Amino acid sequence: MSTDSLTALVRTIPDFPKPGILFRDITTLLADGDGLRDLVDRMAAVARPLDPDLIVGIEARGFILGAALALALGKGFVPVRKKGKLPGKTVGIDYCLEYGTDRLELHEGQVPVGARVLLVDDLIATGGTALAATQLLREQGASVLMALFAIDLPDLGGMAALSADGVAAQAIIA
Ligand code: IMP
Repeated sequence: MSTDSLTALVRTIPDFPKPGILFRDITTLLADGDGLRDLVDRMAAVARPLDPDLIVGIEARGFILGAALALALGKGFVPVRKKGKLPGKTVGIDYCLEYGTDRLELHEGQVPVGARVLLVDDLIATGGTALAATQLLREQGASVLMALFAIDLPDLGGMAALSADGVAAQAIIA
């Protein structure tokens, strides 16, 4: 599938979740068998040469793509979740949103010290979420080999923010 065809499978929904926001919705791409296969193949082609020890996916759409990628690479998958969702003992990090703060959590001990991790999410906007997840992973003694996304919103500067923090990052669709 061409990059244009893949991009065309993502729909844009105005005024979600609030007025003025143009939400990029990947459920239309996920629902297309050829599109999903092509996206996961492209992400796997980027990730495979890095030979990560673990795939870490960010809630919620990072779980879908991260798990598919983990299966493609034959690696384990670890979820980074929003506050209060994981049942076991957690480690976490608070981070700033446009209005207020949020918290990301990880099961304690699930990312071993020294692990070489590939971080996955559906989309990077400002980069705040991926930066917080990276900091949390680094606090566990892991290194983030790359943060990999289906979509980049380049106007929001997330890739540059990750790069300034020494995180290699790539997106399939920009
Ligand atoms: P950031 O922290 O500003 O980079 O925002 C990225 C996070 O918000 C990711 O977890 C995305 O899933 C989510 N997000 C922000 N904007 C959109 C969008 O337009 N479509 C889908 N997810 C989005």
